[in-house]
Amino acid sequence: MEFAKRMERLGTETAFSVLAKAKALEARGREIIHLEIGEPDFATPSHIVEAGCRALRDGETHYTPTAGIPELRAAIAAEVARTRGIAVDPAQVVVTPGGKPIMFFAILALVDEGDEVLIPSPSFPIYESMVNFVGGRPVFVPLRQENEFRFDLDEFRAGLSECTTMVILNSPANPTGGVLTPEDSAGLAGILRERPDVFVLSDEIYSRMLYESPFTSIASEPDLGPDGRTIILDGFSKTYAMTGWRLGYGVMPVPLAEQMTKLQVNSNSCTNAATQYAGLEALAGPQDTVDRMLFEFRSRRDLIVSGLNELPGVECLIPQGAFYAFPRITGHPTDTLADLLLEEAGVACLSGTAFGHYGEGHLRFSYANSRKNISRALQRMDDVLSRTAKRRT
Ligand code: PLP
Repeated sequence: MEFAKRMERLGTETAFSVLAKAKALEARGREIIHLEIGEPDFATPSHIVEAGCRALRDGETHYTPTAGIPELRAAIAAEVARTRGIAVDPAQVVVTPGGKPIMFFAILALVDEGDEVLIPSPSFPIYESMVNFVGGRPVFVPLRQENEFRFDLDEFRAGLSECTTMVILNSPANPTGGVLTPEDSAGLAGILRERPDVFVLSDEIYSRMLYESPFTSIASEPDLGPDGRTIILDGFSKTYAMTGWRLGYGVMPVPLAEQMTKLQVNSNSCTNAATQYAGLEALAGPQDTVDRMLFEFRSRRDLIVSGLNELPGVECLIPQGAFYAFPRITGHPTDTLADLLLEEAGVACLSGTAFGHYGEGHLRFSYANSRKNISRALQRMDDVLSRTAKRRT
């Protein structure tokens, strides 16, 4: 079959292909511990489920306004204003089926052929995929373990050129668990103020998942708010364990919100109606389940990080946010190691290369699994790594 040329430039998310491989092994009777996929293993809180069901029973089974129901856009505007300390008008909010369409739409709307986009590396693979898809040029800025996976501001500045139209930031970060500190944010803002023509896509989907420090958003910096040229991407998938509902949003300058609304009318028409009412309840209702989930994630993080650091050839920093550990592994190319761990240990994880060139030498473990399974996975990995270390000596 012949496809349009642009399809050759579209990438993918390895987490889904590893999940499929792991499921195929399970179908053949193998028992696999899943540490590959980035979704909370908790159930959506029951009051949110009930709000979704109630909406269906009340007849909310039709199209909604393309950019989202007014009540939800207003609630999101208030939430983003409160958490980032900025003014937000509901007209700046576009509600989408998950956070992902915001990156898709932002890149489609703003990046022309030949435009450059600064992308952290390693980072979420869809950024690179989409920039390539529209004919833009990704320019990678490394995030290194030695620097706690934070930008080197000189490297960031050096990545900017006359052709740069957008920079992408992600904090807390997938896959590293690194976070933007207030100093980083001020430093980046200083650089970006010299380039008022550059858009900032700030992926804040893990904004509620921090363990040590409060959340910092570049959008809180003077001149870098979503009334100017920053697009905040956030959503409900991670915070409220709602990955399958598909509910996210972007907050951006009104003229861009109008363009994104046009892209949405050309693709999804709108976000699922009942899901939007469930999201309204998520924001308005009790937040204790979020706190409990974070408390549990924190103890899993401590368990997996200390366990990984005991394994031969493994060195793992303590991630400050999200729910991923991103250890450095010596002695193995990580692509083959991820396969080996799946096949010999029955542990599904991702090679750091799934997140870009600078991910080589690392594995990503999602600790969205029980403490019992994390302990079992660590034991099994210890067996395989010790065995391969012995084979080499
Ligand atoms: N941004 C990052 C950094 C992510 O890790 C993910 C999901 O894994 C998303 C965005 C997409 O979230 P959603 O499921 O709401 O589309």
